[in-house]
Amino acid sequence: MQEFYLYNTLSRSKEPLDPLEPGHVRFYGCGPTVYDYAHIGNYRAYVVMDLLRRCLGLNGFKVTQVVNLTDVDDKTINGAANAGKPLAEYTEPYIEAFFEDLDALRIERAEHYPRATGHIREIIELIGRLERNGLTYRSGDSVYFRIADFKGYGRLSRLDTSGIKAGARVDVDSYDKEDLRDFVLWKGRKDENVGWESPFGCGRPGWHVECSAMSMKYLGETLDIHCGGVDLIFPHHENEIAQSEGATGKPFVRCWLHWEHLMVEGRKMSKSLGNYYTFRDLLEKGHKPTAIRYILLSTHYRSQLNFTFDALAAAASAVERLRDFKRRLENYRPAAAAQGEPLTWCADRFRQALADDLSISTALASLFDFVREVNSLIDAGSLSESSRSRALEELALCDRVLDVLAPDGRDEIDRVEYVEKLVEERKRARKARDFARADEIRDELAAMGIALEDSPEGTHWKKKT
Ligand code: AMP
Ligand code: ZN
Repeated sequence: MQEFYLYNTLSRSKEPLDPLEPGHVRFYGCGPTVYDYAHIGNYRAYVVMDLLRRCLGLNGFKVTQVVNLTDVDDKTINGAANAGKPLAEYTEPYIEAFFEDLDALRIERAEHYPRATGHIREIIELIGRLERNGLTYRSGDSVYFRIADFKGYGRLSRLDTSGIKAGARVDVDSYDKEDLRDFVLWKGRKDENVGWESPFGCGRPGWHVECSAMSMKYLGETLDIHCGGVDLIFPHHENEIAQSEGATGKPFVRCWLHWEHLMVEGRKMSKSLGNYYTFRDLLEKGHKPTAIRYILLSTHYRSQLNFTFDALAAAASAVERLRDFKRRLENYRPAAAAQGEPLTWCADRFRQALADDLSISTALASLFDFVREVNSLIDAGSLSESSRSRALEELALCDRVLDVLAPDGRDEIDRVEYVEKLVEERKRARKARDFARADEIRDELAAMGIALEDSPEGTHWKKKT
């Protein structure tokens, strides 16, 4: 098994991945709140999880991944009330849209997508365990977790929360809590028309508890990796640790992985700031899903990603370069005497870089160095047949992670663009009296079934019949 390193937020250092069951990584990621269409900042989350999943696979690990769907919380309940719909009817279209977007972004499906509303029993059981362990109290119609009784609260975020005391900054009455750090596990039903019967009265779960209940149900009481955006470190993940370890007495997570935000003009992309694009907005503007996938993938997850349309255009041209490279390799016919070998193969270096805390920039640099080197061998006509087929294999291996080579379902448009680009290039080659290159392009087009007609007005192309 390949050594695989990840940066663990808990220890603030890179550590070798050490799954509880050798060779099998179980990981959990906090998923969408399904009250609206997700924006592309949210999709950075799911693309990073996809990258992690594929890199683990490429390095020989079996993966079991869980991503939750938050389908009951303040936002979903308010949204449903405003729309005058039952909660499930309101959230369902957003869940469907989420899966459609995942497919369009070529995000591999996780093994489980549990919904909070489908796990009320598990949530009630977990709260019951915490109650038996003396870590909760009831106030009003709600059940709270008492932080003061859980040793080690704040270990992950390293925030000194001891100063946040009841009454210190906010009127305690408005919270019904003994201590402002305490958080709600079960919310007594008030005016909302959403609620489940429980030993604590009719109500619904607080937000944090669903992640503890569902992650442990599907992955066991100790997870290998738990991930989310940096915004979730405090209080969400801190609270998950308190709930899970408070119930089981076992370490909850071995490695905490957090990604930085996608930013727009220096600020986090978010619904509340209004500075967001949904994935669908970008498709409507004519951007391709693979370009969006590439931009979300190609900045290291621990760096902020500054989203601009220039960067999106650069991502689209990087994808196009890789596709051009593949077409050139497919259409290339080596001369009988061609003996040239690339100096360095890339797939192994690509894989190793990704096994080092998902170092995508290093991985992509080795791939693009390779593309440059092989392209110049093709230009010189000296790439051998065996190198040609090995190069295609190396590219396919890298694409097991990138997944951008297959056309975007707009094959014909891609093809037309590509043909026109080649025709233009041939025109320039002829002008520069580089007839060898011009002939090579004519041959490549012929292999694609495209015929050229040169006339005094210019060059026209058509499909051969
Ligand atoms: P939400 O739907 O708001 O519950 O968020 C779902 C996921 O998206 C969480 O893992 C968040 O950390 C993540 N997220 C939200 N906004 C951004 C952003 N601008 N950049 C990266 N991740 C984000
Ligand atoms: Zn969560």
